[in-house]
Amino acid sequence: MADAPESLRRRNAAALLRTLRYDGPASRAELALRTGLAKATVGTIAGGLEEAGVLRGLEQVRSGERGRPGQRLTLADGRPVGVGFEVNVEYVSAVVLDLSGSARFEITRPVSEVAAVAAALGALADEVAARLAAESLHPVGAAVALPGLVDGDDRTVVWTPNLDLPGTGVAEAVDRAFGWSSRTRVVNDADCAALAEVRLGAGRGTDHLLYLTGTVGIGAGIVDDGRLLRGARGFAGEVGHLPIGEPGARCGCGRTGCWEASVGLHALLAAVGVDECGTPLETAAEVARRAETSSGVRAGVARIGQHLGRGLGIVSGVLDPHQIVLGGYFVPLGDLVLAPAAAELDAAVALGGRGRPALSLGQLGTEAAATGAAERALDDVFSGEVDLLS
Ligand SMILES: [Zn+2]
Repeated sequence: MADAPESLRRRNAAALLRTLRYDGPASRAELALRTGLAKATVGTIAGGLEEAGVLRGLEQVRSGERGRPGQRLTLADGRPVGVGFEVNVEYVSAVVLDLSGSARFEITRPVSEVAAVAAALGALADEVAARLAAESLHPVGAAVALPGLVDGDDRTVVWTPNLDLPGTGVAEAVDRAFGWSSRTRVVNDADCAALAEVRLGAGRGTDHLLYLTGTVGIGAGIVDDGRLLRGARGFAGEVGHLPIGEPGARCGCGRTGCWEASVGLHALLAAVGVDECGTPLETAAEVARRAETSSGVRAGVARIGQHLGRGLGIVSGVLDPHQIVLGGYFVPLGDLVLAPAAAELDAAVALGGRGRPALSLGQLGTEAAATGAAERALDDVFSGEVDLLS
């Protein structure tokens, strides 16, 4: 194995890491079966990865000496980690995941004003870098989730309607904190949340997920065959301004009849006669509380759900997802919005009774985007681009 080309060794190591992550802990013999690699090859790579602090042996059920062939190996609690950040108008946050997908730590810092977001991200990145060093954790990559469009280079911010973060400043701020050059990625927040839900949340077990996030705007993240669907320019999933819903509803983009003008947070508040109170999630929770005693509020949320379901039917007709996950402000509304949306989706999906995509709520809350960014950062390890043996 020592003479094998470095790229082959890296590919084999990545195959081992992938199966440990996605199929669970295994003995060396099981790893050989799963990957098709020779037992000796598995032994050499696993030994190197164990030495590098990437994987470790699990406690034996029966007593036995450490390192014996029957011992099962796991990625949990290893030293390499992926770092995910999220920036938005209310807070900056960081989630650090090990290769098993377990969170090692999470930090959220509120942001007082939009102009302070860039500085807050820089300070948070410095804080994370210092803590990783103190805990002997090794960052293999970092990604930043933000509400906007990112160019195909995964670094250049093309458009952030509510934040002033143009160009590659975001990526460079994190690169600086970690002492890197051109390594940090920037990713659309709905794409990140979709990745997080499909790997660690409501979408586990499917490879075809449509994730819809709801705040004032509406954005989709699409996982197709296990991978994020990006489109030609990286802009896939911009569904908020499709002409779906009330034709006369005025949209923030200046036009009328956009989907988000019928299902975004402001449309909800207008439909139920409630004022914004705190974050979108807090506001939606207040709407859900009032719905307990008000049929008018329940009917207002149901109307939003109908517009939502109709649009999901159209988007599903294009994408054929296995599962649809609703995030953002939809989550606190629960069945109030899910039930009418599901009924419309049933009516909209015309497949001769062959069923429709499952519809559920996100499970990862406000940490979904940063978690997905950390997953994105780890992908280079599982694809074999980053070598953990050197
Ligand atoms: Zn619009």
